[in-house]
Amino acid sequence: MKIESLLRELPSVENVLSDSRISELVSTGSRRGIKRLVRESIKGWRGRIMAGDVKEIKGTGLEEAIIAEVIAEVKEITAGGRRRAINALGVIIHTNLGRSVLGEEVREEIEKSASGYIDLEVDLDSMERTRREARAARLFSLMTGFEDAHIVNNNAAAVFLAVETLAGGGAVAVSRGELVEIGGSFRLPEILSKAAGRVIELGTTNRTHLSDYREAVEAGADLILKVHRSNYRISGYTDEVSLRELVKLGEESGVPVMYDQGGGLFRRMGGMEDREEMDIGELADTGVNIIAFSCDKLLGGPQGGALLGDSELISRMRSNHLARVLRVGKLTLSGLEKTLSHYWHGEHGKIPVLSMADLSAEEIGIRAEKFAASLRPELPDGIDISITEGGSPIGGGTFPNNPLPTMLVEIILQSGGAEKLSRLLRGESPSVLVRVRKDSILIDLRTVSRNEENILKEKIIRGIGIPEGGSENNA
Ligand SMILES: *Cc1c(COP(=O)(O)O)cnc(C)c1O
Repeated sequence: MKIESLLRELPSVENVLSDSRISELVSTGSRRGIKRLVRESIKGWRGRIMAGDVKEIKGTGLEEAIIAEVIAEVKEITAGGRRRAINALGVIIHTNLGRSVLGEEVREEIEKSASGYIDLEVDLDSMERTRREARAARLFSLMTGFEDAHIVNNNAAAVFLAVETLAGGGAVAVSRGELVEIGGSFRLPEILSKAAGRVIELGTTNRTHLSDYREAVEAGADLILKVHRSNYRISGYTDEVSLRELVKLGEESGVPVMYDQGGGLFRRMGGMEDREEMDIGELADTGVNIIAFSCDKLLGGPQGGALLGDSELISRMRSNHLARVLRVGKLTLSGLEKTLSHYWHGEHGKIPVLSMADLSAEEIGIRAEKFAASLRPELPDGIDISITEGGSPIGGGTFPNNPLPTMLVEIILQSGGAEKLSRLLRGESPSVLVRVRKDSILIDLRTVSRNEENILKEKIIRGIGIPEGGSENNA
């Protein structure tokens, strides 16, 4: 069809609004919102027609297509909830899936704070004003050996607040080998250039020497920053200065040393004993002045950013006006305090990130065998199922080269079947995420709770049963 005649098919906003299905939506929803959705949908179609992307109008016509679009979007955005996902990828800390899963008692604590008033910033005996993050900060400092702590919204905010406080009118020194980007939205160079008066970049991508840091200090650096490289590694002809050497330089020169540790490693997890990474307590022992990390990575708590360090520096950060901009809410703090109290009591099994990481390949193998055995009789001929060795990436930019040993359930399909099944499973509710390798899908039960196993099994049987080109919608 010609562009002009296609355009003539576009209904007016008024026409669409007068359709009974749309007026029904208006009667139970935002009139302003629905009008805008109708306008946007018409505009979208006009744009695609003008661009020549619409060759013909299929089915029941443009007006019907627009009405369907509006109804679908209203349904999606007003459902008042996110789609649950079963994570069979084995990636424990998956940022796009919401990072840490929180344990039952932590959820109860969050629910308590959500459903009523709490003593967030007041001592209910004396009615004196208190600091909202004081309890979490106290727990952090008592357990790690750092003098004091402050909590903000995430680790990016923690780094920003620390650098702005200590080098906002001055200079921060950082190695070029550590000017990293983490997950697309955290680009250290951008954050540093906003937070510090000046960024002194040291060394080269692969090699930075103590003498580079010494020169930066002589050139007036107010803060030495070391950054965990997280999700990338450099190897070969490389050299970096250890935190201990930097702390020594800091002590000699009076310049504070900060480490953006990132992951928040409080306790070594399953099979991690021999890894070189220092935990937070060991970091405190080095004498580093400030560290920053995320609360929803290895720590296993709600989204937050923690700053631990010398009380004089932490108190300067706390009284920075930006601290108010970056402050955490009551839900975060209640969840974080409960998570920390689990650490205090050694209740690591109540922190899902830790209990998932602690599962051995043998334990997962036993679950995988059972799962495969219950699935096998349900599978049609020609589809094989077996158990194979693999690795569970911890995720969140932590330990990129050290996946935890695991056992995977492998379902071997016909050519092209794995991609198709994986897509069908993603479209389910709850959505199911699996790894695809050639013609197989791989299931890592490390990140699947026992309650989810049955649903996972049902979804797989259903997905395999759907013929080529069959419906992808759930009943
Ligand atoms: C994850 C990470 C960040 C960003 O933390 P968010 O809590 O996501 O803001 C910053 N630095 C390092 C080293 C990290 O690993």
